Amino acid sequence: MTVVLDTIRATRRWVRTERSAGKSLGFVPTMGAFHEGHLSLIRRAGQQCDRVVVSVFVNPLQFGEGEDFDRYPRDFSRDLKLAEHEEVDALFHPAVEEMYAAPQGITIQVGKLGDLLCGPARPGHFAGVATVVAKLLNIVQPDRIFFGQKDAQQAVIIERMIAELGFPVQMEVCPTMREADGLAMSSRNAYLSAEERANATVLYRSLCHAATRIRSGERDAPRIEREMREMIGAVPGAALDYASVVDRRSLESVKEIVGEVLVAVAVRFGKTRLIDNVIAGPGK
Ligand code: AMP
Repeated sequence: MTVVLDTIRATRRWVRTERSAGKSLGFVPTMGAFHEGHLSLIRRAGQQCDRVVVSVFVNPLQFGEGEDFDRYPRDFSRDLKLAEHEEVDALFHPAVEEMYAAPQGITIQVGKLGDLLCGPARPGHFAGVATVVAKLLNIVQPDRIFFGQKDAQQAVIIERMIAELGFPVQMEVCPTMREADGLAMSSRNAYLSAEERANATVLYRSLCHAATRIRSGERDAPRIEREMREMIGAVPGAALDYASVVDRRSLESVKEIVGEVLVAVAVRFGKTRLIDNVIAGPGK
């Protein structure tokens, strides 16, 4: 049975009870509209912890002006069914007014990490993510928190926040779940027309191309970025935001590839912005 908790108070009470019974808590923060990516994190949490808490909250703080906050897919009754099926112990599903009872005057600054990759296209986004994750961590107080590699920049920033602000939680980053043709699963894929959906495979194809080039000895990162840009540019309707080879931790541009790097892309199809990434290295 999955307990639905819609207030912070009820969640704290539930957490207190489980903790005092000696149960370890795994936490998966999400914006709902579950797909296999979410479910893989939930399953991983279930393997690692006695109890699994999942939050479903479309966080207004991380959406910019003109972004898709209003039309972001929401289907809580479907999410609840899937959560039941996965034996999630508690779903935290607060209203916006519950999470932000007063305007959020105090926010977490994420520094330069938030200005790179998706930063220029989404100003304030990562500060919004870091702030809501900090609040959720204070409410749920889990032993472990689970994120997807799909959102690599988010994972790097949250890992840094946890370390630098000293949150007593272990973080785990889980692999990206993909459709059969390689497209990374995302709630936003639902926005794509049939034609856009077919063309969207270029993200992963360009990443695989980069990974293959790196594996076979190419060390010139700008050259690989150029090749990715060309691949993406050749696809109708694909508007490139970035195709970048960066350091895994600092997210800074790399010129010469030595160890493992993060290869990341962001491409728009109409109003829909898709992101994806792989870790690549000479031996990978
Ligand atoms: P979201 O609901 O999109 O905010 O995502 C919630 C969590 O699921 C985040 O940690 C995401 O990185 C993760 N996630 C989203 N898509 C995938 C995917 N395709 N594979 C693995 N994890 C994912």
